[in-house]
Amino acid sequence: MFEGKIIDTHLHIEGWVNEENNMEKGFEPYREERSLGAINVCALPSHNGAANNIMCMIYKLVNPKTYAHCGIVHLDQPIIDNPPCGFDPVTQYRELMEIGCDGIKMLEGKPSYHLSLGSDINRPTLEKLYDEIEKDGTHLIYHVNDPDEFWDRERAPKDAFEQGWFYGDLGYAPYEEIKRQAEIMMEKHPNLKVTFAHFFFSSKEPEYLEGLFEKYPNLCVDLTPGTEMYFSFESKHDYYRDFFTKHSDRLLLGTDGTFPWATRFHSWCCHTLIRFITTDDKMMAFNDRILTGLDLPEEACANILYKNFERRVSSEPKPINKKALIAYYEKYKPYISKEDIEHLDPLFEKYVY
Ligand SMILES: [Zn+2]
Repeated sequence: MFEGKIIDTHLHIEGWVNEENNMEKGFEPYREERSLGAINVCALPSHNGAANNIMCMIYKLVNPKTYAHCGIVHLDQPIIDNPPCGFDPVTQYRELMEIGCDGIKMLEGKPSYHLSLGSDINRPTLEKLYDEIEKDGTHLIYHVNDPDEFWDRERAPKDAFEQGWFYGDLGYAPYEEIKRQAEIMMEKHPNLKVTFAHFFFSSKEPEYLEGLFEKYPNLCVDLTPGTEMYFSFESKHDYYRDFFTKHSDRLLLGTDGTFPWATRFHSWCCHTLIRFITTDDKMMAFNDRILTGLDLPEEACANILYKNFERRVSSEPKPINKKALIAYYEKYKPYISKEDIEHLDPLFEKYVY
């Protein structure tokens, strides 16, 4: 029904090649298999610095109907409040928007990264950034917090330990504190056009999320798993059917599909989420647990599957300004690893210069 329209709003790039493709074509088999209308790649400068922003920009340059949300490179960790001249977050934000970024992605609220940056998402340099983003009406995808069980040795899933996402010791800020920091950010920037990733990890307290929706007209959350939230949706199926219908203008589709993972992973996830939203099928979903589709009304499905993103960002991706991209590469090159430069130089030769 939504053939050629659906947008996966939450994808990442973490490598250069897999068995199917090179990075710059990496999501194309996925896009084709699911007949997606567009994709949005979210940069992770926490992974490999400015190179990750550039990878996303090149992806966008090479492939039509690709949006990119890029991020701030923190040369100093923890963040110092007087960053080196020309590298403050606001200057970086302006550079990214000039290149042709469609929005900003931040991971600064994920507990592991949060700790390495100094445990406060409201540092003065970041506050100035939120001021600008709010003023411009730019879309911000923000990962703040993680599932509350990741702080609890008894309840944390095995993969939280394996991925380094167990926060029960070693000085990580508590779940409630990070949540409070996000609230403070919103209190100070009530019109921020922010999409909190992964349902803002609030699936166990949807009334709380509903309260935020009432207070902040531009706040959305995405449905990117966070598998735990799908267990909550299943356990309160009827409640959540109403919630999704009522708040369909606040929810966005995303898979967290990551290149160089094989296409089948994000393709399966996308297929599962579309079935969850559009049908009443009973399906085997995350952790091999049963998930029952919500079978939402058509207009609600359209909102979640593509309209909200188009309304919040734009109906077409912005073009890439090659001159600005070259200037960005030159400026950040001293901070990019040799290995990444070896991959980026030929891409610039082929597509940019
Ligand atoms: Zn993600």
